Amino acid sequence: METISCIICGSNKSEPYIKVTDRLNSDSTQFQIVKCECGFVYLNPRPEESEISKYYSNDNYTPHQQNTVNIFDRIYKFVQLFTLRWKYRKISVFKKSGKLLDIGGGQGEFCNYMKNSGWDVLLQDNSELARDIAKNNGLDTIISLSSIDENEKFDVITMWHSLEHIHEIYKTMDLVKKLLDESGILLIAVPNIDAHEQKYYKENWVPFDAPRHLYHFSPKSLKQFFYKFGFTVKSEIPMFQDTPYNILLSMKSKGIFSLAKAGVIWLISCMKTLTKGVNHSSSFLVICKKN
Ligand SMILES: [Zn+2]
Repeated sequence: METISCIICGSNKSEPYIKVTDRLNSDSTQFQIVKCECGFVYLNPRPEESEISKYYSNDNYTPHQQNTVNIFDRIYKFVQLFTLRWKYRKISVFKKSGKLLDIGGGQGEFCNYMKNSGWDVLLQDNSELARDIAKNNGLDTIISLSSIDENEKFDVITMWHSLEHIHEIYKTMDLVKKLLDESGILLIAVPNIDAHEQKYYKENWVPFDAPRHLYHFSPKSLKQFFYKFGFTVKSEIPMFQDTPYNILLSMKSKGIFSLAKAGVIWLISCMKTLTKGVNHSSSFLVICKKN
């Protein structure tokens, strides 16, 4: 395990926020999530990068599953189809075609969709299994951003729920800045620590996902983070589609009372997001440009 300072302000002064166990592991090891004096919430201490792979090897880790086996995976797949089109539309507002790099792209569902829509795509993922599946589907893949020629530029770089997993986050952001064309756009989607449903599910709230999720951004802290690296946020968009999935996976009991409660929480979340934008949505997307 390693201890880190806040990635937003550099301070090492923090207070305990919540303790959570690994939702994919039956042992009772607890992981400490802390809140920095600047308000940023993150996992501290955390497993070192060299030991993190064992926490991704569980068969229940949804993004790398190959077969749909239960109702929640089926819901995930259904929402994913809708989400692919949604992501494509968000990019189309800024760019109609060009070169796209997807960081932490998993098995390549998004890259495939973009490739079939005429984009020149490159997928990065740490998982060999995920890259093999992507390669079998005809995608170009890399294990590390460092292997990309430093003169190569991309019109669009995407990080769909991957920023919160990255140990060497400063190095990654420096590379992203180098690789993004001057007129390019960067799209980042992350869970929102200020999500409406978080306070109801507490340590069971699925986006805590310790120890895989290392950082817990809010719209405010993500904006501060990008500002450090010379990016300006052009657009913040709530991701309504993540809310039912987050709520269902956060539920310990699937009894009728719990389901009724989940329905009410979901409705209030939708209403809050409709009236207040990204501030309390389950996840959010930001679209940035270089300054
Ligand atoms: Zn801080």
